[in-house]
Amino acid sequence: MTGQVMFDGHVLTLLDAAVSLVNALTDGFRQGRPYTAPHGDQLPRAVHDALPLAADRPGVDPVHAAYLAHTAQQLKAVFVAVDHGHTGQAAELVNALLRTTGARPQLDRVDDEPWQVHFHGAEDTLAVGWSAGCATALALAIGSNLAGRLGVCTAPQCDRVYVDNSRNAARHFCSNACRSRVKAASFRARKNEQG
Ligand SMILES: [Zn+2]
Repeated sequence: MTGQVMFDGHVLTLLDAAVSLVNALTDGFRQGRPYTAPHGDQLPRAVHDALPLAADRPGVDPVHAAYLAHTAQQLKAVFVAVDHGHTGQAAELVNALLRTTGARPQLDRVDDEPWQVHFHGAEDTLAVGWSAGCATALALAIGSNLAGRLGVCTAPQCDRVYVDNSRNAARHFCSNACRSRVKAASFRARKNEQG
């Protein structure tokens, strides 16, 4: 690595979780098609799949699933605000989430590994814990020179979000699918011009 400041492992995990929750649990557009988020009976499974794997997580309680679906809406609003250059609005949204979740740092240690700063909520439930963690990770991104790393896909008919972890901050799309879609469209356009 160069001297460039990048996200540390725990923060990156939380940012990835925020992206995953937003993309799975909010309505909008996904890779060229309207996207309706799972709801009702399907929501707990969708939340389970959106969170990083945890062998010891039995299944997601419907109440926690609904809480996280609501958090996902709020997280999405943060990505959109940052993407539009409305950093002040993004900061207010993140601060509101930090307050409602009671986000706080805590030193945790797994087995004999070194102590690490982790982010918890006022209570250590699945829903509040992940909401607090994701909010803190967004706060760290926005409060540093990495705010520009939060993005909304620029492909047509897509509003899925991403965290740009590339070295040169050159990412514009949520996925390879969207990148190829846009590439193919511009190739066709050039061909037609030459036609
Ligand atoms: Zn996309």
